[in-house]
Amino acid sequence: MPESRKHVLILGGGVIGVACAHYLLEEGLEVTVVDQKTIAGACSHGNCGYVCPSHVLPLTEPAALKVALQSLFRPSSPFYVKPTLDPETLKWFWQFAKRCRHRVMMRSGKHLKAILDASMLEYRKLVDRDGLSCQWRDSGLLYVLKSQAAMKGFAATDRWLSQEFGVSAKRIEGSELADLDPALRSGLAGAFLYQSDTMLRPDRLCQAWRQRLEQRGVRFVEHCEVISTQQEQGGITAVITSHGPMKADTYLLATGARSGALGKAFHCYLPIQPGKGYSVTMSRPALCPTYPMLFPEHRVGVTPFEEGYRLGSMMEFVGFNEQIPQGRIRQLMESAEPYLKQPHTPEVIETWYGWRPMTWDSLPAIGPAPGLHNAYVATGHNMLGLSMAPATGRLIADMVVGRRPFLEAVAFDPARFEQA
Ligand SMILES: Cc1cc2nc3c(=O)[nH]c(=O)nc-3n(C[C@H](O)[C@H](O)[C@H](O)COP(=O)(O)OP(=O)(O)OC[C@H]3O[C@@H](n4cnc5c(N)ncnc54)[C@H](O)[C@@H]3O)c2cc1C
Repeated sequence: MPESRKHVLILGGGVIGVACAHYLLEEGLEVTVVDQKTIAGACSHGNCGYVCPSHVLPLTEPAALKVALQSLFRPSSPFYVKPTLDPETLKWFWQFAKRCRHRVMMRSGKHLKAILDASMLEYRKLVDRDGLSCQWRDSGLLYVLKSQAAMKGFAATDRWLSQEFGVSAKRIEGSELADLDPALRSGLAGAFLYQSDTMLRPDRLCQAWRQRLEQRGVRFVEHCEVISTQQEQGGITAVITSHGPMKADTYLLATGARSGALGKAFHCYLPIQPGKGYSVTMSRPALCPTYPMLFPEHRVGVTPFEEGYRLGSMMEFVGFNEQIPQGRIRQLMESAEPYLKQPHTPEVIETWYGWRPMTWDSLPAIGPAPGLHNAYVATGHNMLGLSMAPATGRLIADMVVGRRPFLEAVAFDPARFEQA
């Protein structure tokens, strides 16, 4: 009789759950992924698709506090905080505010850089070596600036990023932009190209990854909501779901922005707020951008796919709100107008919102659930879950099989929030 394999049940089938399934399977474990809706149908579906190791700066930076305060009474602001008296949300913002300091930003930036770089190496293996099909493009990510003042400010940030983190961009003057990407308007101040960044189509990535994992024996269960856990002697014995109890040897919580509520069933305090963003995907304009681009002055991102083109942006702290206001979509389209000759097309394929799983220290929670011997957490990936997914999966696999993590992971310990 073959020895039975250890079974891991992953709660949540976003890009993080799928990536963890991959690395756990590589260890020879039996893996099941359950999702209350569809696999990768939530925040991992319509995001901008950047795999961007250049994004080392956390949201908790000194200027963030001012931006948040200014937005309180301006719902049209791309970064909007809805005033609230909810004690948990107020606590989150208090903890967030305490971390908007230079020293903390630098520390978090170093941890982010390590996991982003490690993830990029893993993506290279998945895409180049294993041929995972996801419209991967080694294009770089182009930051386009409209005004000379913004260009000057960005140049200073770029110099500093290069000195402190070894992340540097190629500077492109306004006069060179038409040759670089004919989709851009004339009269722009210039751009910075982060050549190490890449793009992919997030829904295709998860679709292809899921298919491949299914062929190798991973079970995916959709429309199955996890409600609570049963526990005995410091371990989970079953999770209670809308399909009835499900049993495994090891349990992994990867429910994205919804992890706060289920965290309690994992004995784990996970202060995660939904950071709502939007995207609109259209048919490709005749003059479609060649590069994925960010327009920092208008806070909007552009991703050109093979059969469509997406504008994405906004960060709203408005709770678990499911609406897609037409005004926000219009705003997204208008934000691209100063930069692109054909900023939108009449054929809208999809309007979308996603709740980013936001932690108050801008770092993900990856590690064992405190006090439970067979439970782990992989959530809170903020604005960079797609970029950090493969390294997260590899870390979780190391921990589950009891190996020393391939990357220093103390800063990501889910228990850290209890001490705050
Ligand atoms: C506009 C926008 C643009 C973005 N652009 C980028 C980008 O360019 N690059 C990048 O790296 N990141 C980007 N992000 C962030 C990225 O999308 C997220 O960090 C990432 O998708 C989080 O993945 P996840 O698997 O943790 O969460 P999710 O994808 O939300 O998955 C969690 C899953 O858990 C399931 N679930 C929840 N509760 C339960 C339950 N009780 N029972 C069962 N299942 C449950 C949900 O249905 C969901 O499928 C962007 C986000 C937004 C909003």
